[in-house]
Amino acid sequence: MALTGLDIFKLLPKTNCKKCGMPTCLAFAMALAQKRAKLEDCPDVSEEAKGKLAAASAPPMRKIVFGTQENQVQLGQETVMFRHEEKFYNPTALTVTVSDKLTGEDLTKRIKAVNALQFERIGIKIGVKAIALINDSGSSDSFAQAAATVKDASNLALILVTDSPDAMAAAAAKTKESVPLLASATPDTAEEMAKVAKENGCPIVAKADSLDALAGLTEKIKAAGVEDIVLNIESPDLQSQLLNLSKMRALALKKVFRPLGYPTVSFATDGDADTQLASAVSLICKYAGIVVLDTVEPYAILPMLTAVMNIYTDPQKPVQVEPKVYRIGEPNENSPVMFTTNFSLTYYTLESDVESSRIPSYILVVDTEGTSVLTAYSGDKLNEKTVADAMTKYGVADLVKHRKLIIPGYVAVMSGKLEEATNWEIMVGPRECSMLPKFLQEVWN
Ligand code: SF4
Repeated sequence: MALTGLDIFKLLPKTNCKKCGMPTCLAFAMALAQKRAKLEDCPDVSEEAKGKLAAASAPPMRKIVFGTQENQVQLGQETVMFRHEEKFYNPTALTVTVSDKLTGEDLTKRIKAVNALQFERIGIKIGVKAIALINDSGSSDSFAQAAATVKDASNLALILVTDSPDAMAAAAAKTKESVPLLASATPDTAEEMAKVAKENGCPIVAKADSLDALAGLTEKIKAAGVEDIVLNIESPDLQSQLLNLSKMRALALKKVFRPLGYPTVSFATDGDADTQLASAVSLICKYAGIVVLDTVEPYAILPMLTAVMNIYTDPQKPVQVEPKVYRIGEPNENSPVMFTTNFSLTYYTLESDVESSRIPSYILVVDTEGTSVLTAYSGDKLNEKTVADAMTKYGVADLVKHRKLIIPGYVAVMSGKLEEATNWEIMVGPRECSMLPKFLQEVWN
């Protein structure tokens, strides 16, 4: 639990000296509780109080990072159970397995297939974040050799998966500059695995089959000097796994139970691509920090990435595109000009329909704070003034020699006022932009 102002007050010197800029220690404590002041502003606070306040104000779920700068995966630091309470911070990292039984061309081919799982959706690049190298061979040498190959052949982050401390030590030594995540320490191997993690500066996965065992295991790993931990609760089926993940999240966030205050990893490698897709989407919804998959089928991976994208966007901030004039194809001074709002989904739907018309065009994107055409119009964010101002701001009149503006059919009601505000002829486009190619072909051409 976060400390209250009174809890903090008890730890302050209570001299009311005002050096912090506040009239009293109580006022300072209240400001600190509301994050309006910093502890450093009080020069007289004791070291003991500093320690207590720092520990109490640590986030309930620790941030864990693995990988290097260009492929870094960041997990944890979540603060709420439900997205609508605020937002979720660090998106689930989808990870695909590579077996260390593969060698030569087979290994390279599999790594290439995983590397290729990158997509673009509504203008945002999304993709698989890591490769999980599995020690199927049981051999330390094969594991270490395959780890070195993956490191050289992929820009993705790396997770080393073995229950053998010897194999882990061999593979971690070959890849430590990539800062792999080491999976996993069990209650039986906690000290040995923690030693490997500490020596190589890597975070570690703690794996156990009950919440009690997992809590005991993280304490053991911490006592061995490793603070960066990811949790893997082993459950008999998906339903139990979802329940366990929810309990762990509630214990970490609501009860501030530190032994479980870490992000999680779940394996959804059983079954075919369809089964993995169904499991993964459930796990993404219920708090998995990492989901490990076996499939490299793009048709299965893309919906999982879409689920991650949707759940981890800020619910109070629609996905937006930059307001400006977009050129579709190679438009010239005779090309059509149309406008829409900066809500990503609206813009990319229109862009795709204009592209399919094969008529090079200009699309003016008006800043409506990421709302769609009708929402923006009803909220008065899209009106004759905002459109006219955007036309001036982005120099639309300099792009074409005609003075015709195509407007979305849903806001046909704006025509008159817009014509007055811009002195352009207003052409009302179709209501559904899927009809735009036909409209452009028939009306513009
Ligand atoms: Fe109290 Fe510290 Fe502020 Fe002085 S500087 S009033 S001791 S909180």
